[in-house]
Amino acid sequence: MKVYKFGGASVRSAEGVRNIVRIVSAVSGDLFIVVSAMGKTTNALETVLENFMKADREAALEKLSEIEGYHRDVISELFTDPGQGYKAVKPLFDEIRTLINNGVGDEYDRWYDRLVSCGEIISTRIVSAFFTESGMDNVWLDMRKLLVTDSNFREANVRMEESEKRISEAVDFSKSRIYIGQGFIGANTKGDPTTLGREGSDYSAAIAGNLLNAESVTIWKDVPGILNADPRIFPNTALIPELTYHDAVELAYSGAQIIHPKTIKPLQNKLIPLYVRPFGTPDEAGSIINETAPPIAVPVLILRKNQVLVTMRPRDFSFVLEESLTKIFAIMNKRRLKVSLIQSSAVSISVCVDNTRYLLDALDEMGNDFKVSYNDKLELLTIRGRNDEVIRQTTSGRDILLSQKTRRIARFLMREEGVYSL
Ligand code: ASP
Ligand code: MG
Repeated sequence: MKVYKFGGASVRSAEGVRNIVRIVSAVSGDLFIVVSAMGKTTNALETVLENFMKADREAALEKLSEIEGYHRDVISELFTDPGQGYKAVKPLFDEIRTLINNGVGDEYDRWYDRLVSCGEIISTRIVSAFFTESGMDNVWLDMRKLLVTDSNFREANVRMEESEKRISEAVDFSKSRIYIGQGFIGANTKGDPTTLGREGSDYSAAIAGNLLNAESVTIWKDVPGILNADPRIFPNTALIPELTYHDAVELAYSGAQIIHPKTIKPLQNKLIPLYVRPFGTPDEAGSIINETAPPIAVPVLILRKNQVLVTMRPRDFSFVLEESLTKIFAIMNKRRLKVSLIQSSAVSISVCVDNTRYLLDALDEMGNDFKVSYNDKLELLTIRGRNDEVIRQTTSGRDILLSQKTRRIARFLMREEGVYSL
């Protein structure tokens, strides 16, 4: 069997959903399909949540109506009888409305998972109903019942053994050739919904591939495959046809937005190849990630935005690097801050982290032991396969706060500018 994953951009319109049917009908074997929320629905649900947490129910409900309207538009373009299509999702919107009307916004992370996870439930209901209307028998699965996670809300970790048991019970290809489940979501053992982190549907697909022993996992994307740079930022990009798991992990952790960083491990562990293929031109091969591949022939550029450089100096001046690092990382870990770069000197330690909701809490806590200062609105440019010309073109004239170079990789932490003419 194979796993196919369709991201938010693929399902953002009726045309996209029709294209999924086209791609899937070209496959004759068994398929497990993982789908994200439609278009920008996750962002929109985050806005619903923000309003709900502020106890502004009216604004929350208004935003929800907007989301419902968008889905209704897709449905009415898709189904011969839009009323029938709408039936597949109306109860879900009613359920969210009830949550908003009756719930009390206490714990942000828990509420996030309860509300924002609905985006995927809605999209998969629509896709599954449209498959049925198109004559493709399929089984819709609720991943909140199958993917068991811990209770680390908003960034839950999957319990593989328990999930394997449930998923292999639910999926029986002798009964149906096509199963459709949600990316990004699961539930803890008590059944409270959880999410796996933004853009986590890739990770869900990889887990499904691992648990079902897939022959391959394919992520369908709105790009030609894995490129050496983000085409939205850098004008000239090249396709990388083949990468190793190792390459892919390195790119993902440097902030390449092509695949979620956690995606590779479940695949590498069972040596399942990962294809990244263009949704708009499905005849093209795209890129393949597997155990062996030739070295990447072009320099790779990865830009990680919204970075903060935090510098810490121990208050008591007794500088013991290991101890300080241990303290700093314990706090970072607790607040789930992703460290993208570390630099230490005789009297200070600097780390570069994503600017997230819990950053200030972390800095506050560090203030007990350290004198903390920080710069925000930075971007971290990683250039892999060092190339002096590329470095010159991307960094000359820029305000560089910190740089690190190894034989293969150069990294520059700079003030945000966002215009690259490379
Ligand atoms: N819908 C979620 C998000 O936008 C998960 C995903 O798309 O992978 O983050
Ligand atoms: Mg998405």
